[in-house]
Amino acid sequence: MEEKKGQIGVTTDNIFPIIKKFLYSDHEIFLRELVSNAVDATQKLKTFSSLGEFKGELGDLTIHISVDKDKNTLTISDKGIGMTAEEVDKYLNQIALSSANEFLDKYKDDANSIIGHFGLGFYSSFMVAKQVEVITKSYKDEPAVKWTCDGSPEFTISAADKAERGTDIILHIDDENKNFLEKAEIERLLKKYCRFLPIPIAFGKKTEWKDGKSEETDEDNIINDTTPLWSRKPSELKDEDYKKFYQDLYPFTDEPLFWIHLNVDYPFKLTGILYFPKLKPNVDPHKNKIQLYSNQVFITDSVEGIVPEFLTLLHGVIDSPDIPLNVSRSYLQSDQNVKKISSHITKKVADRLEDIFKNDRPQFEEKWDNLKIFIEYGMLTDEKFYDRAQKFCLLKSTDSKTFTLEEYKTLISSNQTDKDGTLIYLYTNNKEEQYSYINAAKEHGYDVLLLDGQLDVHLASMLESKLEKSRFVRIDSDIIDNIIKKEDIKEAEITDKQKENLDEAFKSQLPVIEKVDFSFDYKPLKENVQPIQITQDEYMRRMKEMAAMQTGMSFYREMP
Ligand code: ADP
Ligand code: MG
Repeated sequence: MEEKKGQIGVTTDNIFPIIKKFLYSDHEIFLRELVSNAVDATQKLKTFSSLGEFKGELGDLTIHISVDKDKNTLTISDKGIGMTAEEVDKYLNQIALSSANEFLDKYKDDANSIIGHFGLGFYSSFMVAKQVEVITKSYKDEPAVKWTCDGSPEFTISAADKAERGTDIILHIDDENKNFLEKAEIERLLKKYCRFLPIPIAFGKKTEWKDGKSEETDEDNIINDTTPLWSRKPSELKDEDYKKFYQDLYPFTDEPLFWIHLNVDYPFKLTGILYFPKLKPNVDPHKNKIQLYSNQVFITDSVEGIVPEFLTLLHGVIDSPDIPLNVSRSYLQSDQNVKKISSHITKKVADRLEDIFKNDRPQFEEKWDNLKIFIEYGMLTDEKFYDRAQKFCLLKSTDSKTFTLEEYKTLISSNQTDKDGTLIYLYTNNKEEQYSYINAAKEHGYDVLLLDGQLDVHLASMLESKLEKSRFVRIDSDIIDNIIKKEDIKEAEITDKQKENLDEAFKSQLPVIEKVDFSFDYKPLKENVQPIQITQDEYMRRMKEMAAMQTGMSFYREMP
């Protein structure tokens, strides 16, 4: 074959400085891109073989990664379909580069950082290499070819002597990126991006401990699990498998509460396993533990903006080939497929919770304390989830009984309404401090809720606006009997003048009190000694409390 020189066919004079500049934030994804190309080429060969289009031996299809520190090279070798000279010209010079060009055109106005994890295919190798060689032999009976390019728009195609089918990509790593010649660094990247790829990937040889030191064996060091749990049939799996996989993903974490195995074929493809972590009451949970994959290729572990806010509290894996690899985060967020996937997941999560609630309420109640921050967060931030969750959202009373919203309404409707028929939900956020108020209320036959969770006050406000004629009143905030209708409310047995004096006396001693009310509807402690209740205005108190919470909880960004 004659050596051929050519100009890469794009309008930009020199695309490589632009690639380096715009992808600056995340050089490391080049490895993911090259390994996933190798996987694609191998999968294609398997498909051709099963269709009878390829009749040769498949042989060992392991992809090999190797570094040569003396030559400053990193090599990715596969035994996939390979490319003919014509295909090299087409796929590497024209298609790949034009898509790279398009990509940069589209995103050059965005801030440098946005591209982040999202790659640019084959050409991302020029982020770390001063020269790239591709030596490839097609599965079709054609001579092997070598393509080289040194980062200028010029490339060379020539004949190569390669007997085996497949492709070797040899990167001559540039001086600024020498870290990609370190074994530990490559191992880290392979673990991060390639851990669950469907074709075995070998990096060096397995080592063994012998006589106190580690020695290389003949066996390939395979770094990936080609059939991760989420890619397998739910019917074949046991609880133990799910728990083990959870521990693999998040070593040393508490066992999850429940999980959902997602498995959708239509109208989009989606698999994955989502775990409900044990969220500790009143501890800010870790967000963004979900890993996003596309065909088992890791994309990102920051799913914020891709799935609804509250789902970022879940753990696990989502895999969808319909989530595009080569795009920026801002593009992902507006992608229609991603939106559909995201609302599908919300629905599945609600289904699962409703299912457990209906079929195993004792289990659901038992786990409620660990679940509730998640459910409340969902109700507060996602309209659709609210509609579903109001069926299984629980309220806990001060004597540890749990009720659904509907059940609680029934419980208090005969005894806890005001003059206009508004339901009064009495609550405490501190059983110890408000002990005497709670007791007094109970003596009157009222029920008192315990709302001491991080989001309870927010949820109470939301329920007030959503539920018909409902009001949440903290047990010490108003005189309960002024709110709840009573047949005969006793008149105050002191004069207005006396009231005024007392009011002033209290205010001067207790400056936080905005208003003092007197109630004489309590049993005298001693004869002729009337107890007085000091209360605070509910609305003012709640406003202050919310403001304090909001500043303390930057964690909940989108709180209404
Ligand atoms: P994409 O993978 O999205 O198609 P890339 O820029 O990563 O874009 O690759 C461009 C094309 O080059 C691929 O579609 C494929 O046809 C070809 N190619 C890249 N790497 C290989 C490989 N290892 N074996 C065979 N073909 C390859
Ligand atoms: Mg690719």
